[in-house]
Amino acid sequence: MEPNYCYQVPVVIGAGITGAAIAMLNPSVVVYDKGRNSGGRVSSKQGNDPSTFDFGATMFRDPMEVRWLGQETKYSILEIWKSESVSLQTKPIYSDAHFYPALGMSDLVSSMLGNVKPIQSHTLKKMERNDDHTWNLEFYNSATKQTDTICTHSVILTLPIPQILEIFHRSKEKSKLNRWIEFLNNYNDYRKTLVSYFYWDKWKPEWKSLSLDPDAKIPINTNLEPGSDWEYQSWESLKYPKEFHTGSALLVQFGALFSETHFEDWMDEKRNPNAKYKDYLIKGLQEKFNAPEPNLIWNHRWKYAQAQMPLLGREGALDLDSEAFENWKHLCKDTGFTILGDWLFGAKIERIIGGIYFLSHNDLL
Ligand SMILES: Cc1cc2nc3c(=O)[nH]c(=O)nc-3n(C[C@H](O)[C@H](O)[C@H](O)COP(=O)(O)OP(=O)(O)OC[C@H]3O[C@@H](n4cnc5c(N)ncnc54)[C@H](O)[C@@H]3O)c2cc1C
Repeated sequence: MEPNYCYQVPVVIGAGITGAAIAMLNPSVVVYDKGRNSGGRVSSKQGNDPSTFDFGATMFRDPMEVRWLGQETKYSILEIWKSESVSLQTKPIYSDAHFYPALGMSDLVSSMLGNVKPIQSHTLKKMERNDDHTWNLEFYNSATKQTDTICTHSVILTLPIPQILEIFHRSKEKSKLNRWIEFLNNYNDYRKTLVSYFYWDKWKPEWKSLSLDPDAKIPINTNLEPGSDWEYQSWESLKYPKEFHTGSALLVQFGALFSETHFEDWMDEKRNPNAKYKDYLIKGLQEKFNAPEPNLIWNHRWKYAQAQMPLLGREGALDLDSEAFENWKHLCKDTGFTILGDWLFGAKIERIIGGIYFLSHNDLL
């Protein structure tokens, strides 16, 4: 592994919300991502037909809390953005403690990245220690179909654990990586989520029959049925109403059991549902909403949708007084690189941004 280039700044792998939060606080970092676009699990699709819709995370909560040295402190994500000069127009949704960006969830990531332009289409394949202080990172560039190798003294990985383990298993440097492999295995549990987007150009439901009010000051656009197949239904046409005149759009996130069972043959490469699911979906829309066949059905699937057993807890304050967090700190120091993500903070945007802000301001990053 001979590097073509050596960076004097930290290299962040992954341009999702974790990578964007790091870049917001330290704009000198270099960010690499395997995708053609940044955002990861915070992604929107934009266009006129279909209109904007969010097919990963749909909103965030503000504020969040951190417990450290026995004390709980509240952090406001909106205030953090203000203090970091991130300009982002947000709107409340559900309540005055939940928000989304007016231009779509992906605007969260691009606004926080600011002037940091991620190097896209680069998949990290291997990492190896160069000397006591530097790492070589080998990427596959899917645009040029070539291998690029760089070196840096500081690496921050922000990928879901299974994708990190794949890289580690391909890499030669075993002693330091094995310590991380053993540690990460305790938190390697993700749920899968199947997603469908439906668009009608000339039909909308009776909002009242769904207990939804398009004219409410703070809109409620979702219906949550925990544990059911059609678990989370979000009327994107209420969320982004300007883009709709006569029609409507619905985004469904399917339940964990349903998603696990139907994951493999959910869609074809063009994201059309496979034939058996097309019938199922059209029938479901008819039964639930008395809806005609939509003009468009677009499917997506998230293999590592949300970390289920995060080190700092799923709900409530981030627990930085835990022994596990001490172990994470030691591991970062001893191995010379850092691993962050929803497996650490919990699968919530505010926990990730607030957590990275806290770590950065307490010299833990
Ligand atoms: C369907 C769904 C709904 C959700 N709803 C909400 C919600 O409403 N509110 C909320 O707060 N949270 C929600 N979440 C959770 C939230 O989206 C995630 O916790 C968060 O986005 C994780 O961000 P991340 O940056 O840690 O990881 P990711 O977003 O996964 O980012 C990792 C990045 O690394 C890149 N990558 C992967 N492998 C490589 C490689 N080998 N080399 C280079 N790059 C690589 C990927 O392309 C990706 O961009 C939801 C998640 C899903 C899937």
